[in-house]
Amino acid sequence: MVHGMLTLERFSFGVGDRFAHQAKAQLRAFQLLAEDGIEVAPVWNKSNREHDFIGSEPASVLAAAQAAVRALDWKLGWHVDADHIRLETVDRFLACSDFFTIDVAESIGRPADGETVNAFVARHPELSGRVVISGIPAPFEITSGEVARIAGKYLLAVRDAGKIYRHIAAKKGGEASFIAEVSMDETDRPQTPPELLVILAALADEGVRVQTIAPKFTGRFNKGVDYVGDLAQFEKEFDEDLAVIAHAVARYGLPANLKLSVHSGSDKFSLYPIIRRALARTGAGLHLKTAGTTWLEELIGLAEAGGAGLTLAKEIYAQALEHVDELCAPYASVIDIDRAQLPSAQEVADWSGARFAHAVRHVPAHPEFNPHVRQLLHVAFKLAAKAGDRYTGLLEANEAVVAKHVTENLYARHLRPLFIA
Ligand SMILES: [Zn+2]
Repeated sequence: MVHGMLTLERFSFGVGDRFAHQAKAQLRAFQLLAEDGIEVAPVWNKSNREHDFIGSEPASVLAAAQAAVRALDWKLGWHVDADHIRLETVDRFLACSDFFTIDVAESIGRPADGETVNAFVARHPELSGRVVISGIPAPFEITSGEVARIAGKYLLAVRDAGKIYRHIAAKKGGEASFIAEVSMDETDRPQTPPELLVILAALADEGVRVQTIAPKFTGRFNKGVDYVGDLAQFEKEFDEDLAVIAHAVARYGLPANLKLSVHSGSDKFSLYPIIRRALARTGAGLHLKTAGTTWLEELIGLAEAGGAGLTLAKEIYAQALEHVDELCAPYASVIDIDRAQLPSAQEVADWSGARFAHAVRHVPAHPEFNPHVRQLLHVAFKLAAKAGDRYTGLLEANEAVVAKHVTENLYARHLRPLFIA
Protein backbone atom coordinates (compact mmCIF):
# COMPACT_ATOMS: atom_id res chain seq x y z
CA MET A 1 0.00 0.00 0.00
CA VAL A 2 1.20 3.49 -0.80
CA HIS A 3 2.36 5.04 2.44
CA GLY A 4 -0.06 7.61 3.80
CA MET A 5 -2.63 6.69 1.19
CA LEU A 6 -5.99 8.34 1.65
CA THR A 7 -8.00 5.31 2.71
CA LEU A 8 -11.72 4.82 2.43
CA GLU A 9 -13.26 3.66 5.71
CA ARG A 10 -14.61 0.11 6.04
CA PHE A 11 -18.19 1.38 5.85
CA SER A 12 -19.13 4.33 3.72
CA PHE A 13 -22.45 5.52 2.39
CA GLY A 14 -23.10 7.87 -0.50
CA VAL A 15 -25.69 10.59 -0.17
CA GLY A 16 -26.97 13.00 -2.78
CA ASP A 17 -28.01 16.52 -1.96
CA ARG A 18 -29.36 17.82 -5.24
CA PHE A 19 -30.08 21.37 -4.07
CA ALA A 20 -27.26 21.62 -1.49
CA HIS A 21 -29.64 22.25 1.42
CA GLN A 22 -29.67 18.93 3.34
CA ALA A 23 -26.06 18.09 4.17
CA LYS A 24 -26.58 18.81 7.85
CA ALA A 25 -29.79 16.78 8.06
CA GLN A 26 -28.03 13.95 6.25
CA LEU A 27 -24.98 14.08 8.50
CA ARG A 28 -27.28 13.96 11.52
CA ALA A 29 -28.33 10.45 10.45
CA PHE A 30 -24.68 9.31 10.51
CA GLN A 31 -24.23 10.92 13.89
CA LEU A 32 -27.20 8.98 15.26
CA LEU A 33 -25.73 5.77 13.86
CA ALA A 34 -22.35 6.56 15.43
CA GLU A 35 -24.18 6.99 18.75
CA ASP A 36 -25.50 3.46 18.16
CA GLY A 37 -21.88 2.33 17.83
CA ILE A 38 -21.54 1.97 14.04
CA GLU A 39 -19.16 4.32 12.26
CA VAL A 40 -20.06 5.00 8.65
CA ALA A 41 -18.39 7.70 6.59
CA PRO A 42 -20.77 9.90 4.61
CA VAL A 43 -19.75 10.50 1.02
CA TRP A 44 -21.53 13.36 -0.72
CA ASN A 45 -21.87 12.42 -4.37
CA LYS A 46 -23.05 14.34 -7.39
CA SER A 47 -22.51 13.43 -11.03
CA ASN A 48 -21.62 15.72 -13.88
CA ARG A 49 -25.03 15.09 -15.44
CA GLU A 50 -26.76 16.08 -12.21
CA HIS A 51 -24.75 19.31 -11.98
CA ASP A 52 -25.79 20.09 -15.55
CA PHE A 53 -29.48 19.38 -14.85
CA ILE A 54 -29.48 21.53 -11.72
CA GLY A 55 -27.09 24.20 -12.96
CA SER A 56 -24.75 23.76 -9.97
CA GLU A 57 -20.97 23.60 -9.64
CA PRO A 58 -18.94 20.88 -7.86
CA ALA A 59 -17.53 23.39 -5.37
CA SER A 60 -21.04 23.78 -3.89
CA VAL A 61 -21.04 20.13 -2.76
CA LEU A 62 -17.78 20.53 -0.85
CA ALA A 63 -18.93 23.81 0.69
CA ALA A 64 -22.21 22.27 1.89
CA ALA A 65 -20.40 19.25 3.32
CA GLN A 66 -17.84 21.40 5.13
CA ALA A 67 -20.57 23.56 6.63
CA ALA A 68 -22.43 20.47 7.88
CA VAL A 69 -19.27 18.94 9.35
CA ARG A 70 -18.57 22.19 11.21
CA ALA A 71 -22.14 22.65 12.39
CA LEU A 72 -22.38 19.15 13.85
CA ASP A 73 -18.73 18.96 14.93
CA TRP A 74 -18.32 15.68 13.03
CA LYS A 75 -14.93 14.19 13.88
CA LEU A 76 -15.07 11.00 11.80
CA GLY A 77 -14.32 10.52 8.12
CA TRP A 78 -16.27 12.03 5.23
CA HIS A 79 -15.64 12.49 1.52
CA VAL A 80 -16.85 14.25 -1.60
CA ASP A 81 -17.37 11.98 -4.61
CA ALA A 82 -17.02 13.12 -8.22
CA ASP A 83 -19.66 10.65 -9.30
CA HIS A 84 -19.54 8.85 -12.65
CA ILE A 85 -16.80 11.01 -14.15
CA ARG A 86 -14.90 10.36 -17.34
CA LEU A 87 -11.78 11.92 -18.85
CA GLU A 88 -13.91 14.60 -20.55
CA THR A 89 -15.76 15.56 -17.37
CA VAL A 90 -13.34 15.07 -14.48
CA ASP A 91 -11.45 18.36 -14.54
CA ARG A 92 -14.00 20.58 -12.86
CA PHE A 93 -14.14 18.12 -9.94
CA LEU A 94 -10.42 17.93 -9.25
CA ALA A 95 -10.16 20.77 -6.75
CA CYS A 96 -13.16 19.84 -4.63
CA SER A 97 -13.31 16.03 -4.54
CA ASP A 98 -11.20 13.41 -2.79
CA PHE A 99 -13.21 10.46 -4.10
CA PHE A 100 -13.61 9.77 -7.82
CA THR A 101 -16.06 7.31 -9.35
CA ILE A 102 -14.37 6.42 -12.61
CA ASP A 103 -17.12 5.37 -15.02
CA VAL A 104 -15.96 3.05 -17.76
CA ALA A 105 -19.35 1.69 -18.84
CA GLU A 106 -19.07 3.33 -22.26
CA SER A 107 -16.01 1.27 -23.16
CA ILE A 108 -17.44 -2.07 -22.02
CA GLY A 109 -18.06 -4.27 -24.99
CA ARG A 110 -15.81 -2.28 -27.33
CA PRO A 111 -13.64 -5.28 -28.18
CA ALA A 112 -9.95 -5.21 -27.34
CA ASP A 113 -7.67 -6.40 -30.17
CA GLY A 114 -6.59 -10.05 -30.34
CA GLU A 115 -2.98 -9.40 -29.46
CA THR A 116 -3.89 -7.54 -26.26
CA VAL A 117 -6.33 -10.28 -25.28
CA ASN A 118 -3.83 -13.08 -25.96
CA ALA A 119 -1.15 -11.30 -23.97
CA PHE A 120 -3.53 -10.97 -21.01
CA VAL A 121 -4.54 -14.64 -21.14
CA ALA A 122 -0.85 -15.67 -21.32
CA ARG A 123 0.08 -13.40 -18.41
CA HIS A 124 -2.68 -14.91 -16.25
CA PRO A 125 -2.58 -18.72 -16.50
CA GLU A 126 -4.03 -18.81 -12.96
CA LEU A 127 -7.37 -17.52 -14.31
CA SER A 128 -7.92 -20.47 -16.65
CA GLY A 129 -9.10 -23.88 -15.51
CA ARG A 130 -10.18 -24.71 -12.00
CA VAL A 131 -10.00 -21.55 -9.88
CA VAL A 132 -10.31 -22.24 -6.17
CA ILE A 133 -11.43 -19.26 -4.10
CA SER A 134 -11.72 -19.39 -0.36
CA GLY A 135 -15.35 -18.95 0.67
CA ILE A 136 -16.80 -20.28 -2.61
CA PRO A 137 -17.71 -23.95 -2.21
CA ALA A 138 -17.68 -24.89 -5.91
CA PRO A 139 -14.48 -23.73 -7.68
CA PHE A 140 -14.96 -21.67 -10.84
CA GLU A 141 -14.28 -23.62 -14.02
CA ILE A 142 -13.13 -21.00 -16.51
CA THR A 143 -11.78 -22.09 -19.90
CA SER A 144 -9.02 -20.01 -21.48
CA GLY A 145 -11.55 -19.19 -24.21
CA GLU A 146 -13.83 -17.74 -21.55
CA VAL A 147 -10.98 -15.69 -20.04
CA ALA A 148 -10.29 -14.39 -23.56
CA ARG A 149 -13.97 -13.51 -24.04
CA ILE A 150 -14.11 -11.59 -20.75
CA ALA A 151 -10.80 -9.87 -21.44
CA GLY A 152 -12.01 -8.89 -24.90
CA LYS A 153 -15.10 -7.33 -23.41
CA TYR A 154 -13.48 -5.45 -20.50
CA LEU A 155 -9.82 -4.72 -21.25
CA LEU A 156 -10.49 -1.43 -23.05
CA ALA A 157 -12.70 -0.32 -20.18
CA VAL A 158 -9.89 -1.14 -17.75
CA ARG A 159 -7.39 0.80 -19.88
CA ASP A 160 -9.79 3.74 -19.82
CA ALA A 161 -9.94 3.50 -16.05
CA GLY A 162 -6.14 3.59 -15.99
CA LYS A 163 -6.03 6.72 -18.16
CA ILE A 164 -8.53 8.56 -15.99
CA TYR A 165 -6.86 7.34 -12.78
CA ARG A 166 -3.41 8.56 -13.87
CA HIS A 167 -4.88 11.87 -15.00
CA ILE A 168 -6.41 12.43 -11.55
CA ALA A 169 -3.19 11.33 -9.81
CA ALA A 170 -1.13 13.74 -11.91
CA LYS A 171 -3.44 16.66 -11.18
CA LYS A 172 -4.09 15.91 -7.51
CA GLY A 173 -0.47 15.40 -6.51
CA GLY A 174 -0.20 11.63 -6.50
CA GLU A 175 -2.11 8.40 -6.08
CA ALA A 176 -2.16 8.70 -2.30
CA SER A 177 -4.25 11.87 -2.38
CA PHE A 178 -7.57 10.45 -3.54
CA ILE A 179 -9.86 7.43 -3.36
CA ALA A 180 -10.62 5.65 -6.62
CA GLU A 181 -13.83 3.81 -7.34
CA VAL A 182 -14.37 2.04 -10.66
CA SER A 183 -18.00 1.74 -11.77
CA MET A 184 -19.42 -0.62 -14.34
CA ASP A 185 -23.04 -0.52 -13.25
CA GLU A 186 -24.48 1.63 -16.04
CA THR A 187 -24.29 -1.10 -18.62
CA ASP A 188 -26.74 -3.62 -20.12
CA ARG A 189 -25.65 -6.86 -18.53
CA PRO A 190 -24.57 -7.73 -14.98
CA GLN A 191 -21.03 -8.91 -14.35
CA THR A 192 -20.74 -12.41 -12.96
CA PRO A 193 -18.28 -13.19 -10.14
CA PRO A 194 -15.79 -14.85 -12.58
CA GLU A 195 -15.97 -11.70 -14.73
CA LEU A 196 -15.29 -9.58 -11.66
CA LEU A 197 -12.19 -11.67 -10.94
CA VAL A 198 -10.81 -11.10 -14.44
CA ILE A 199 -11.62 -7.37 -14.25
CA LEU A 200 -9.78 -7.04 -10.92
CA ALA A 201 -6.71 -8.85 -12.29
CA ALA A 202 -6.73 -6.43 -15.23
CA LEU A 203 -7.13 -3.37 -12.97
CA ALA A 204 -4.13 -4.56 -10.94
CA ASP A 205 -2.11 -4.95 -14.17
CA GLU A 206 -3.12 -1.42 -15.12
CA GLY A 207 -1.88 -0.08 -11.76
CA VAL A 208 -5.26 1.27 -10.66
CA ARG A 209 -5.30 1.37 -6.84
CA VAL A 210 -9.03 0.79 -6.74
CA GLN A 211 -10.57 0.94 -3.25
CA THR A 212 -14.14 0.23 -4.24
CA ILE A 213 -15.72 -1.29 -7.31
CA ALA A 214 -19.31 -1.04 -8.50
CA PRO A 215 -20.30 -3.96 -10.67
CA LYS A 216 -23.75 -4.27 -12.13
CA PHE A 217 -25.52 -6.84 -9.99
CA THR A 218 -28.20 -9.24 -11.11
CA GLY A 219 -31.79 -7.93 -10.95
CA ARG A 220 -33.27 -4.46 -11.31
CA PHE A 221 -32.13 -1.50 -9.24
CA ASN A 222 -34.92 0.92 -9.99
CA LYS A 223 -34.69 4.48 -8.72
CA GLY A 224 -36.20 5.07 -5.31
CA VAL A 225 -38.00 1.73 -4.94
CA ASP A 226 -37.14 -1.75 -3.74
CA TYR A 227 -35.03 -4.31 -5.60
CA VAL A 228 -36.80 -6.37 -8.25
CA GLY A 229 -35.21 -9.73 -8.86
CA ASP A 230 -34.26 -13.09 -7.45
CA LEU A 231 -33.10 -12.55 -3.86
CA ALA A 232 -31.42 -15.97 -3.59
CA GLN A 233 -29.47 -15.35 -6.79
CA PHE A 234 -28.45 -11.87 -5.59
CA GLU A 235 -27.25 -13.32 -2.27
CA LYS A 236 -25.21 -16.01 -3.99
CA GLU A 237 -23.54 -13.53 -6.34
CA PHE A 238 -22.98 -10.92 -3.64
CA ASP A 239 -21.30 -13.53 -1.40
CA GLU A 240 -19.18 -14.74 -4.33
CA ASP A 241 -18.21 -11.18 -5.24
CA LEU A 242 -16.99 -10.63 -1.67
CA ALA A 243 -14.90 -13.80 -1.87
CA VAL A 244 -13.53 -12.80 -5.28
CA ILE A 245 -12.48 -9.40 -3.91
CA ALA A 246 -10.66 -10.91 -0.92
CA HIS A 247 -8.95 -13.33 -3.29
CA ALA A 248 -7.92 -10.58 -5.73
CA VAL A 249 -6.54 -8.39 -2.93
CA ALA A 250 -4.26 -11.21 -1.80
CA ARG A 251 -3.36 -12.50 -5.27
CA TYR A 252 -2.85 -9.22 -7.14
CA GLY A 253 -1.82 -6.81 -4.40
CA LEU A 254 -4.83 -4.53 -4.73
CA PRO A 255 -5.54 -2.19 -1.77
CA ALA A 256 -6.41 -4.20 1.33
CA ASN A 257 -9.58 -2.17 1.91
CA LEU A 258 -10.99 -2.85 -1.59
CA LYS A 259 -14.73 -3.36 -1.26
CA LEU A 260 -17.97 -3.56 -3.19
CA SER A 261 -19.95 -0.47 -4.05
CA VAL A 262 -23.70 -0.83 -4.53
CA HIS A 263 -25.07 1.89 -6.79
CA SER A 264 -28.73 2.91 -6.90
CA GLY A 265 -28.65 1.52 -3.37
CA SER A 266 -31.37 3.67 -1.85
CA ASP A 267 -34.63 2.00 -0.92
CA LYS A 268 -33.42 -1.56 -1.61
CA PHE A 269 -35.06 -2.72 1.59
CA SER A 270 -35.16 -6.41 0.67
CA LEU A 271 -31.39 -6.44 0.03
CA TYR A 272 -30.25 -4.82 3.26
CA PRO A 273 -30.61 -7.92 5.49
CA ILE A 274 -28.74 -10.00 2.89
CA ILE A 275 -25.92 -7.47 2.71
CA ARG A 276 -25.82 -7.03 6.50
CA ARG A 277 -25.46 -10.78 7.05
CA ALA A 278 -22.70 -11.03 4.46
CA LEU A 279 -20.72 -8.19 6.03
CA ALA A 280 -21.07 -9.70 9.50
CA ARG A 281 -20.00 -13.13 8.30
CA THR A 282 -16.98 -12.00 6.27
CA GLY A 283 -15.84 -8.79 7.94
CA ALA A 284 -15.95 -7.14 4.52
CA GLY A 285 -16.53 -3.43 4.00
CA LEU A 286 -19.23 -1.76 1.94
CA HIS A 287 -19.93 1.41 0.02
CA LEU A 288 -23.59 1.95 -0.78
CA LYS A 289 -24.59 4.85 -2.95
CA THR A 290 -27.85 6.72 -2.76
CA ALA A 291 -28.85 10.07 -4.24
CA GLY A 292 -32.43 10.95 -5.12
CA THR A 293 -34.05 9.56 -2.01
CA THR A 294 -33.21 12.81 -0.17
CA TRP A 295 -34.88 15.00 -2.80
CA LEU A 296 -38.10 13.02 -2.34
CA GLU A 297 -37.94 13.72 1.40
CA GLU A 298 -37.73 17.42 0.59
CA LEU A 299 -40.96 17.11 -1.38
CA ILE A 300 -42.58 15.12 1.44
CA GLY A 301 -41.54 17.79 3.93
CA LEU A 302 -42.91 20.60 1.77
CA ALA A 303 -46.18 18.70 1.30
CA GLU A 304 -46.56 18.18 5.03
CA ALA A 305 -45.70 21.82 5.68
CA GLY A 306 -48.86 22.71 3.74
CA GLY A 307 -49.52 26.17 2.32
CA ALA A 308 -47.06 27.29 -0.35
CA GLY A 309 -44.96 24.14 0.12
CA LEU A 310 -47.88 21.83 -0.66
CA THR A 311 -48.91 24.03 -3.58
CA LEU A 312 -45.46 23.75 -5.15
CA ALA A 313 -45.30 19.99 -4.55
CA LYS A 314 -48.61 19.59 -6.40
CA GLU A 315 -47.44 21.87 -9.21
CA ILE A 316 -44.33 19.78 -9.65
CA TYR A 317 -46.46 16.64 -9.86
CA ALA A 318 -48.78 18.23 -12.45
CA GLN A 319 -45.82 19.36 -14.58
CA ALA A 320 -44.18 15.96 -14.23
CA LEU A 321 -47.34 14.35 -15.63
CA GLU A 322 -47.27 16.73 -18.60
CA HIS A 323 -43.61 15.95 -19.30
CA VAL A 324 -43.62 12.29 -18.37
CA ASP A 325 -41.97 11.06 -21.59
CA GLU A 326 -39.14 13.54 -21.55
CA LEU A 327 -38.47 13.11 -17.81
CA CYS A 328 -38.43 9.33 -17.98
CA ALA A 329 -36.43 8.89 -21.20
CA PRO A 330 -32.92 9.21 -19.67
CA TYR A 331 -33.88 6.70 -16.94
CA ALA A 332 -35.73 4.09 -19.02
CA SER A 333 -33.62 1.20 -17.71
CA VAL A 334 -33.96 2.19 -14.04
CA ILE A 335 -37.64 3.01 -13.60
CA ASP A 336 -40.83 0.99 -14.05
CA ILE A 337 -43.82 3.29 -14.11
CA ASP A 338 -47.30 2.01 -14.91
CA ARG A 339 -48.94 5.17 -16.22
CA ALA A 340 -52.40 3.79 -15.54
CA GLN A 341 -51.51 3.98 -11.83
CA LEU A 342 -50.66 7.69 -11.92
CA PRO A 343 -53.49 9.81 -10.50
CA SER A 344 -54.53 12.87 -12.53
CA ALA A 345 -53.31 16.32 -11.57
CA GLN A 346 -56.91 17.19 -10.68
CA GLU A 347 -57.15 14.30 -8.27
CA VAL A 348 -53.84 15.23 -6.62
CA ALA A 349 -54.93 18.87 -6.39
CA ASP A 350 -57.51 17.77 -3.81
CA TRP A 351 -55.00 15.84 -1.69
CA SER A 352 -54.03 16.97 1.79
CA GLY A 353 -50.35 17.30 2.62
CA ALA A 354 -50.51 14.05 4.56
CA ARG A 355 -52.15 12.25 1.62
CA PHE A 356 -49.41 13.50 -0.72
CA ALA A 357 -46.69 12.47 1.75
CA HIS A 358 -48.17 8.99 2.14
CA ALA A 359 -48.22 8.47 -1.63
CA VAL A 360 -44.55 9.38 -1.93
CA ARG A 361 -42.96 8.13 1.30
CA HIS A 362 -41.38 4.72 0.86
CA VAL A 363 -43.45 2.71 3.30
CA PRO A 364 -44.57 -0.10 0.97
CA ALA A 365 -47.17 -1.45 3.40
CA HIS A 366 -48.99 1.89 3.64
CA PRO A 367 -52.30 1.66 1.73
CA GLU A 368 -51.76 5.10 0.13
CA PHE A 369 -48.16 4.45 -1.01
CA ASN A 370 -47.89 4.73 -4.80
CA PRO A 371 -44.56 3.56 -6.28
CA HIS A 372 -45.48 5.02 -9.67
CA VAL A 373 -45.97 8.50 -8.25
CA ARG A 374 -42.76 8.08 -6.28
CA GLN A 375 -40.69 7.05 -9.30
CA LEU A 376 -42.10 9.82 -11.47
CA LEU A 377 -41.26 12.43 -8.83
CA HIS A 378 -37.83 10.84 -8.38
CA VAL A 379 -36.89 11.80 -11.94
CA ALA A 380 -38.72 15.16 -11.77
CA PHE A 381 -36.07 17.08 -9.79
CA LYS A 382 -35.31 19.18 -12.88
CA LEU A 383 -38.71 20.82 -12.36
CA ALA A 384 -37.73 21.90 -8.86
CA ALA A 385 -34.47 23.23 -10.30
CA LYS A 386 -36.55 25.24 -12.75
CA ALA A 387 -38.56 26.71 -9.87
CA GLY A 388 -35.24 28.03 -8.59
CA ASP A 389 -35.40 30.36 -5.58
CA ARG A 390 -39.06 29.65 -5.06
CA TYR A 391 -38.14 26.02 -4.36
CA THR A 392 -35.02 26.61 -2.27
CA GLY A 393 -36.75 29.48 -0.42
CA LEU A 394 -39.48 27.05 0.65
CA LEU A 395 -36.83 24.54 1.75
CA GLU A 396 -35.35 27.24 3.96
CA ALA A 397 -38.70 28.43 5.30
CA ASN A 398 -39.62 24.84 6.21
CA GLU A 399 -36.19 23.65 7.23
CA ALA A 400 -37.22 21.86 10.42
CA VAL A 401 -39.90 19.63 8.91
CA VAL A 402 -37.83 18.85 5.81
CA ALA A 403 -34.71 18.06 7.85
CA LYS A 404 -36.67 15.74 10.13
CA HIS A 405 -37.76 13.63 7.15
CA VAL A 406 -34.34 13.66 5.48
CA THR A 407 -32.66 12.42 8.67
CA GLU A 408 -35.32 9.86 9.45
CA ASN A 409 -35.30 8.40 5.94
CA LEU A 410 -31.55 7.85 5.99
CA TYR A 411 -31.31 6.72 9.59
CA ALA A 412 -34.41 4.58 10.10
CA ARG A 413 -35.03 3.23 6.59
CA HIS A 414 -31.46 2.94 5.29
CA LEU A 415 -28.53 3.05 7.74
CA ARG A 416 -30.04 1.07 10.60
CA PRO A 417 -31.47 -1.77 8.48
CA LEU A 418 -28.21 -1.98 6.54
CA PHE A 419 -25.77 -1.91 9.44
CA ILE A 420 -27.67 -2.80 12.60
CA ALA A 421 -31.07 -4.41 11.82
ZN1 LIG B 1 -23.84 4.24 -10.73
